[in-house]
Amino acid sequence: IKKIGVLTSGGDAPGMNAAVSAVIKAAYAKNIEVYIVRDGYKGLVNNWLEKVDINFSQDIISRGGTAIGSARLPEFKEVEVREKAVANLKNAGIEALVVIGGDGSYMGAQRLTEMGINCIGLPGTIDNDIVSSDYTIGFDTALNTVMESIEKIRDTMQSHNRCAVVEVMGNRCGDLALYAGTVTGAEVISTSEGQLSEEEIVNEVARLSKLGKRSVIIVISEKIYDANELAKKIEAASGYVTRATILGHTQRGGTPTAMDRYLAITSAIYAVDQLVAGKGGLYVGLDGQQLIARDINSTLNIPRKDRTQELTTIRLLNSQFKK
Ligand code: ADP
Repeated sequence: IKKIGVLTSGGDAPGMNAAVSAVIKAAYAKNIEVYIVRDGYKGLVNNWLEKVDINFSQDIISRGGTAIGSARLPEFKEVEVREKAVANLKNAGIEALVVIGGDGSYMGAQRLTEMGINCIGLPGTIDNDIVSSDYTIGFDTALNTVMESIEKIRDTMQSHNRCAVVEVMGNRCGDLALYAGTVTGAEVISTSEGQLSEEEIVNEVARLSKLGKRSVIIVISEKIYDANELAKKIEAASGYVTRATILGHTQRGGTPTAMDRYLAITSAIYAVDQLVAGKGGLYVGLDGQQLIARDINSTLNIPRKDRTQELTTIRLLNSQFKK
């Protein structure tokens, strides 16, 4: 193998650049040329390919976002569109690809592999929603951002005897909310997998209010409630002045943490090894301390680890209060 490409696809995540950086270094060490593809599959179809050297790798290792751009291209599901991508790659002599993104991106990677371009996926998303990877590239950075934000909110809630509803990202995966609620001692946590009714939340806050708790933090996953409406209901029932904060895109940016970079770099090196071994149609994940490559086709839809037990335990511990 002489030339490979690398692209980032779907939602951006801190640490994607560290992964691109390591793909370049690992390939360079094996005398393989690397082409970056601008803006994911969109760039593949539009022939936005650029050869990069080893210096590019060092320039981007510590940067947030993705320096090579990302995009969504729903048309990539159509075979005629993918044929253009394959023709562009073949013209440039690129034999294989590293695709950094989420499970949607892996589907594209699988289709390309079936069309003769070996692809290996890397888990790049803040949502931690990739089956068979304990952690994804970007999750740790986002979690730290959320933790800091919640602590800032706690300062003001505690000063004014208030309640805050904090909505965090996760796209149907509750890990960001669960971990952030755990590390900040949030009194109430509700996630897609362990969803509380609005009534349960309201009753719990009213209970804490009656006991005389000074501040209450409620961490909720996105796409479940209307955070502002929920805050109004809590205020009416509990007496706390209650404000909603939707953390939004602040969670996606920022300098990647050491752990995110480490996962990005080690999994990228592993991915290049897979391509050199002639493999494709795989995605890399972290299983305990071990990197593994799984088959995209047969494992993408297996269920994620069930975290409801952890959620129940933390809820119980964090709801305790004594005047
Ligand atoms: P993520 O990779 O973060 O899950 P998306 O679900 O948006 O993000 O997928 C990213 C891109 O992957 C899509 O915009 C599309 O170009 C490509 N893709 C998604 N599903 C498929 C599919 N079934 N076949 C081919 N390409 C796909």
